[in-house]
Formats: sequence, structure tokens, C-alpha cells
Amino acid sequence: MHILAPSDEGLRKAAEALTAGLLVAFPTETVYGLGGDGFNRHALARIFAAKGRPRFDPLIIHIAALDSLERIAAIASLELTLRNKLDLLCARLWPGPLTLILPKQPEVPDLATSGLPTVAVRFPDHQVAQQLIRLSTGAVAAPSANPFGYLSPTRAEHVQEQLGDQVTFIIDGGPCGIGVESTVLDLTAGSPRILRPGGTPRERIEEIIGAVEGPPVDSVRMFHSPGQLKSHYAPRTGLTLHRREEMILLPYEPSEAYLFFDRSSWDAWVQGPGHPYEVEPGWTETSRIRLLSERGNLDEAATRLFDTLHELDTIGVSVIRAQWVPDAGRGAAINDRLSRAAARTQAS
Ligand code: AMP
Ligand code: MG
Repeated sequence: MHILAPSDEGLRKAAEALTAGLLVAFPTETVYGLGGDGFNRHALARIFAAKGRPRFDPLIIHIAALDSLERIAAIASLELTLRNKLDLLCARLWPGPLTLILPKQPEVPDLATSGLPTVAVRFPDHQVAQQLIRLSTGAVAAPSANPFGYLSPTRAEHVQEQLGDQVTFIIDGGPCGIGVESTVLDLTAGSPRILRPGGTPRERIEEIIGAVEGPPVDSVRMFHSPGQLKSHYAPRTGLTLHRREEMILLPYEPSEAYLFFDRSSWDAWVQGPGHPYEVEPGWTETSRIRLLSERGNLDEAATRLFDTLHELDTIGVSVIRAQWVPDAGRGAAINDRLSRAAARTQAS
């Protein structure tokens, strides 16, 4: 494995590797992807093997031009109202953190879609990703570049640590701006339905195409979409989730980590009965006590989520105590990822 800079030379090498059926990890605005040629069965098989991903969990095909969409999705077979919604979403939200589920073209290998008649497509809003896709095959299958079930990578170093020996190249494009995966929206099932909350807030989609269905906003997530297992996106360290009222009363344990949403919750905890204020005066953010966003900004919290969980997962604490965030905007995606991490803790 080599780490490449996103220079012309680096992108050319990476694109050659992709075209030859090898795997290249690359940055997108959501998280780092593990890319392989979407039309090459060998490359697709390598993706599943590298991640230890079950083959029933279909991949997202990434494109870098709107006119690539029809190579992958059989748009003509969509009914007219959905076709109109698709056009609006493509015009307004692509490129961006939105994955669309559409009827598939027969040429798309079954391996990419886990045998489903539908395919997931996304046009990422990231220069490096777009150039790489254009320079290679125009259709790059890319799940998040992490072992199956583990935290998604938001930096090249995360990929290097987790999958370094499984890829030919990693393109280092710095930290990802959005930090949570794309929103997955199904346009094949009558009325549009969100299968996975993500970087594009539900509210934003509804402004453009009107009301959409699912998923439930509470913590108990159903099995809506292949691959959307309840325990997923999880650190190796156990994680428990707490509402603000509960979080600020937690007794401080030196062996545990605490992940607060905002400064006001943190301050309330420090002033509360559980916190050993006398023992550690001048308390500030430490490696074990972290804050997602000083002022409670949900976009900033999303950007920092996986990065912070990666760090907390390496410092040897017994458990991570995390706070639910408000369910609006990207908060829905943050709560979804946190609740899946907590589900793993409950299951084990
Ligand atoms: P990832 O690439 O790991 O961020 O996840 C891709 C997710 O998109 C999968 O786990 C599925 O939940 C969803 N997905 C991909 N293709 C389809 C499809 N054809 N139908 C429904 N959901 C899909
Ligand atoms: Mg993933």
C-alpha cells in the first residue's frame, strides 16, 4: 500500500490501478471510500473480501457526471412522478451526500447490488473523488473504507490503520468535511423513503420533493435496508447513550470516557453532583472527556463524530458514555450512528 497525494500524478496512478481492477481508498465529503471499478466483478469481490462485508450488503456506485447515471440506473422505467422527483433531486442536491436507490441497468453486476433489481448511486461533492472517477471508469463502487461493522474513516490515517494492507493506494485528501455517510433515499417503492439518515438532512429533501417516509426517529431502528444492521458503525469499546438530563448527572469514573454534545451540557455536568470538581480543578477537555460542538452546531458535531470516536476507541477506557443530540438536520444521522454503536454494546 502507498499513500498518494491528490496531485495530478497521484490521481493518474490511482486511476490506473482502479481501471486495472485494484482497490483505491479515496476521500469524499462524507467519509473515505474503498473504491473498485463498479463494472468489474473481480474488483467488486475484492471490496467485499477486504472489508469482510457480507455479500448481502449492496454497494453504492459513485459517478462524477450526471450523464453517467443512465449507464447504471434504468431511469426510463420509473413512473413519471418519481422521475420528476429524481430530476429535482439531481439538479438541487447532486453532487452531494445523497444516495439514490433506482432500478438497475442489467449491465450492473449482481455482486454490486447483492442480486437486487435496484442500485444505489451517488455523485460525491469532492474534487479528488470526482477527478478519480472521471480519470478511471466513470462508475466506482465504494463503501466506507473500514472493516465491516466498524467506525467509518474520516481521515487517511484511519484507513491506513484499519485496511492498510488491503488496498493498493490510499489518496490522502485530508479530513472529510461532512463526516457522516450519505443519506440513502429509495425512489423505487411508490413514495420516496429514507433508508438511512445521513449527510443530507431529511428537511432539505422535503423542501424539494415534499414529504418522504421513514426511518423512525427513535432509537430502535428497524431492518429497512439490506446491510442496515442494527449494530454497525461501532467502536470496539462499549458505548452507552444518555439523554441530556441523565448525562449531566452521571458519576465521574476515571476509567470511562464521556462524549458531550455541547458546552452547556458539559458545564451542567461539571457543576452537577457526579463530577469531582475538587479533585481536578481547572477541568478542561481531556483525551477522555470530549465535546462534539462548543455551541451545539449539528453540522460541526457530525464532522467530528467518527474522528472523536476513533480517538476514544484507542485510549483504553472501559466504556464510552455518549449524549444523544437533537434529532434535527444531521442530528438524525448522528443519533442513528450512536444508537447502532450502543446496540452492539447491548448485544455483546
Ligand atoms: P455504505 O456504502 O457502507 O455506506 O452503505 C451502503 C448502504 O446503502 C448499504 O448498506 C445499504 O443499506 C444501502 N443500499 C445500497 N444499495 C441498496 C439497494 N439496492 N437497496 C436498498 N439499499 C441499498
Ligand atoms: Mg459503511
